[in-house]
Amino acid sequence: MTADQPHAATRTQDLQGVIDASMCIGCGACVFADPTLKLELDPEKLIYQPSHASNAAAASVCPAVRVDFPGLQDRIFPGAEQTEYGVVHSVLLAQSTDHDRNLAASSGGLVKELLLHYLSRDDVDGALALGHVGGIDFQTRLVRSSDEVDQLPGSIYHNLEQSRALQLLHEVEGRYILVAIPCQLEGIYNYIHQRAPELAAKIHTTIGLLCGWQYSHHALRAIAEFKGVDYEQITDLSFRGDGPVGRLRMWTGETLHQIGRRVDFDYQVAFDRSFNTPRCHTCINHSNFLADIVVGDAWLPSTVATKTGVSLLVCRKPETDQAVREMAQAGAVKLTDVGTAEIMESQKRRVVFGDFAYAYSAYLDEIGVHHPDMVGPNRPAARLAPRKDVARFHQELTRKLALQWARRYRYLRLRKATVELPKHVKKYLDWFFVRILRVKSLTGQRKEVSRGQVRDFR
Ligand SMILES: Cc1cc2nc3c(=O)[nH]c(=O)nc-3n(C[C@H](O)[C@H](O)[C@H](O)COP(=O)(O)OP(=O)(O)OC[C@H]3O[C@@H](n4cnc5c(N)ncnc54)[C@H](O)[C@@H]3O)c2cc1C
Ligand code: SF4
Ligand code: SF4
Repeated sequence: MTADQPHAATRTQDLQGVIDASMCIGCGACVFADPTLKLELDPEKLIYQPSHASNAAAASVCPAVRVDFPGLQDRIFPGAEQTEYGVVHSVLLAQSTDHDRNLAASSGGLVKELLLHYLSRDDVDGALALGHVGGIDFQTRLVRSSDEVDQLPGSIYHNLEQSRALQLLHEVEGRYILVAIPCQLEGIYNYIHQRAPELAAKIHTTIGLLCGWQYSHHALRAIAEFKGVDYEQITDLSFRGDGPVGRLRMWTGETLHQIGRRVDFDYQVAFDRSFNTPRCHTCINHSNFLADIVVGDAWLPSTVATKTGVSLLVCRKPETDQAVREMAQAGAVKLTDVGTAEIMESQKRRVVFGDFAYAYSAYLDEIGVHHPDMVGPNRPAARLAPRKDVARFHQELTRKLALQWARRYRYLRLRKATVELPKHVKKYLDWFFVRILRVKSLTGQRKEVSRGQVRDFR
């Protein structure tokens, strides 16, 4: 079996395979295809899952069952050229000129600047974007005025129940901006194009986040335990802000607990890849092929010294490219044009082309484990990870998930401090050589964005 062959282990008659393989990402599409379904937080896995297996109608909209990328891309970008990066009109680096907004944001503050731009237009009635509900709970909310935009949170990296976006799309009249992570958008478009095509006209523009992974609630439980924070008393949290990488901040009432994201060892344990929701390991759509404009972090050697974050933008339509240039003309953002090489350099091959995910899906298929059936535009560029590597990863992941589900986080910390230490150190060395010493440029493998081009970024 290769990654190009049909996926026999994908179960399409209901959601049982999704539940058994823990592949749900909480998009909420199934709940609208079968109203008897609810999304519930599984007490052991600590991810949202459907309450029961339901039927073929629910399975037909589920992005953990199948996503037809060629079909959806033809509908969203009719006639546009497909590349291994999806449909690309332009690639830019950008930063909000509002210092406070930029500093509070996860990267360049571009999502909020885009929302402010679109909310000022007569052809937009509002925006649907993630807001804070309480504790660690976040949900899509309706935003109608610019005053509400800066109240929205930054990036939320843990698994959420996301059905509210589709509920709002059903309820509202008019045309809206929708902010969503890739798999959330897959579920929304699966549902719209199969069950409710009338909702398509309510979407004016989609602002997609680039997305490397999300985490089960075990990650938050583990970090709270390591740092002596009472998990049940968390009243709010923020993963980023206060500089390009930012800190994880958790509030218990008035008390603020801050944890460095790059160097804190406990953070590295609790936010290890094994804490990702399992579907993330099969995800081939990190760069949001279905969004009209994609916003991610510019993790480049040329931006490493900036004091506040810089955003990487992929405009997939001429209209979104025009919008960001209008924002620059109005002085809301600073921009510089770059190319697709910067998408690749800013992320990793694994993220952009799915080298690991395509190979892992093929392996899951071979061993009879359900996984989403997806072939994206990046498939021709993927260099599949060796079978032995994905097999070893799967064995380790199975062991680590069992430890997480038993809440034995301290054992995982001990493992990282001993047997996994060389791998952990290598990650830092790679970062130092590529981003700081710029070995790729020194050895002629790539040409950096010039200093002049990024001079205007803070
Ligand atoms: C789970 C996740 C993983 C990510 N992984 C990567 C990565 O690997 N590489 C990379 O370059 N970028 C990644 N990003 C994107 C990055 O963190 C920033 O969100 C993005 O660059 C936008 O930053 P900003 O400064 O413009 O906006 P921000 O100030 O961060 O605002 C983002 C807006 O998006 C909405 N939002 C936040 N979290 C979610 C969510 N979970 N679901 C739906 N909407 C949400 C909120 O309304 C928020 O206002 C990820 C984002 C998420 C949510
Ligand atoms: S991924 Fe979405 S559609 Fe599939 S089971 Fe989970 S919530 Fe339902
Ligand atoms: S990595 Fe993929 S599956 Fe995981 S949260 Fe991001 S978009 Fe969804």
